[in-house]
Amino acid sequence: MSRKRILTGTRPTGPLHLGHYVGALENWVRLQKDYDCFFLIADYQALGDHIEEIQRIRQAVIEVTLDWLAVGLDPVRSTFVIQSAIPEFAELHMLLSMLISVPRLERNPTLKAEMKDLGRRENISVGFFTYPVSQAADILLPKAHLVPVGEDQMPHIELTRELARRFNQTYGEVFPIPEGMVGRVARLVGTDGQAKMSKSLGNCIYLSDDAATVTEKVRSMYTDPTRIRATDPGHVEGNPVFMYHDAFNPDVAEVNDLKERYVLGKVGDVEVKARLAKALNAFLDPIREKRAYFQSHREQVREALLEGTQRAKKVAEQTMAEVRAAMRIASYV
Ligand code: ATP
Ligand code: MG
Repeated sequence: MSRKRILTGTRPTGPLHLGHYVGALENWVRLQKDYDCFFLIADYQALGDHIEEIQRIRQAVIEVTLDWLAVGLDPVRSTFVIQSAIPEFAELHMLLSMLISVPRLERNPTLKAEMKDLGRRENISVGFFTYPVSQAADILLPKAHLVPVGEDQMPHIELTRELARRFNQTYGEVFPIPEGMVGRVARLVGTDGQAKMSKSLGNCIYLSDDAATVTEKVRSMYTDPTRIRATDPGHVEGNPVFMYHDAFNPDVAEVNDLKERYVLGKVGDVEVKARLAKALNAFLDPIREKRAYFQSHREQVREALLEGTQRAKKVAEQTMAEVRAAMRIASYV
């Protein structure tokens, strides 16, 4: 029996960070064993709000691939795909966009929040506005069954399910109805303690940061604003330093001890942060090592992208042939 399929991915807008790891990557690495995984570098999607930064996108394609390889995604077992090398993604996006109304898209809470971040309506390209439909095409083109992503992506999965049902009901069964799957930490907060860790917000600890950078970022992290002195009782709940301890420090006894002392005012932020930096650096060390290996073996990075994209292109052509046949288009004469 053939393995069920996964499609998930990243926008190449910069290197990957701790939020990507606990929200998504960790699941991807694990699921590769049991699923036929397609990992997409969504560079078309990145153009939606970075049209003037194509050079940055080009660089980030390589950065993201290095991060993928460093955390243990396996390009032999799985398929790495560059979106812009497969025009079928754009074709299916265009067709699916006919099956959804403007108000339905406007109700998408993630899109709404991101459009607000872009400011004036004049700043929002039509391409950006329709990116959730493009994402539906990404998922449906390889006929994915499962989509492991961070929580912010769940409204897009819901939309994808609606579009798949609508297509199947109107033209005949072509697409499986995909399920979403959220990672161990649904939405990791940034070092600013204000919003989710996000490349666009500058509140990230990157998987590629060196040890000194991580220590410095942790040192200046937001903690408990109500606490002035180390002897004041502190708050653990909602404190990003403890959230990171919970997510990345495998020494549960140490974390519990720090929490107990923190609420009693018996440990300062300096020590809690020093221990966090140590835990994070221990977690990142093997990732850094693997990244350095692939950085000096760039031909393997290139090969992973080229071979995967070639494999995906065949799957894409097959699905588009089925889509056109089901819709009875492109066969008038
Ligand atoms: P951008 O700001 O350019 O959108 P991003 O940091 O949001 O970048 P994406 O490429 O949009 O990254 O997201 C890739 C995957 O990682 C998605 O599945 C997303 O849900 C997940 N993810 C991103 N940030 C976090 C986070 N802070 N916590 C949990 N999951 C996250
Ligand atoms: Mg994002």
